[in-house]
Amino acid sequence: MKKILPILLAVLSFSCQGNAQKQDDKQQKQEKFEVTKSTEEWKEELTDAEFQVLRKAATEPAFSSPLNKVDEPGTFVCAACGNELYKTKHKFISGTGWPSFDRAIEGGVAYGTDSKLGYQRNEVHCARCGGHLGHVFNDGPEETTGKRHCINGIAMDFIPAKQ
Ligand SMILES: [Zn+2]
Repeated sequence: MKKILPILLAVLSFSCQGNAQKQDDKQQKQEKFEVTKSTEEWKEELTDAEFQVLRKAATEPAFSSPLNKVDEPGTFVCAACGNELYKTKHKFISGTGWPSFDRAIEGGVAYGTDSKLGYQRNEVHCARCGGHLGHVFNDGPEETTGKRHCINGIAMDFIPAKQ
């Protein structure tokens, strides 16, 4: 198992890897967002790690986000602009090491196409500020939507539901 684990992790991280920077830059120029800021402004507001993911479409290391473990009721919002993106009730354990959801809050996210890895897949970003969130795959839970929104935890903040 010790030998298998690093290989397994390498394979899994590939499954959520985003190298969509150029594509994203292009899309973000075409799309109009309610919240728009200059690169310098984003750099000032976000941590380095947040900036790399949200504005440069980097992928956080698998199993690095504390949001992986969140299972209490609440809402996941964009770390950059506070826009509501996902609900805990649509979260499921994918085993990939990234927070995974079978659907987004309607209107919360928008999609782009990323073919950098040689096949088409859907890039997901915040509909309000254009911040990169992750990708959508068609291997989600069959009993619900069949979709897996593979989202970088660092791109989101969690707001627990009021009891
Ligand atoms: Zn946002």
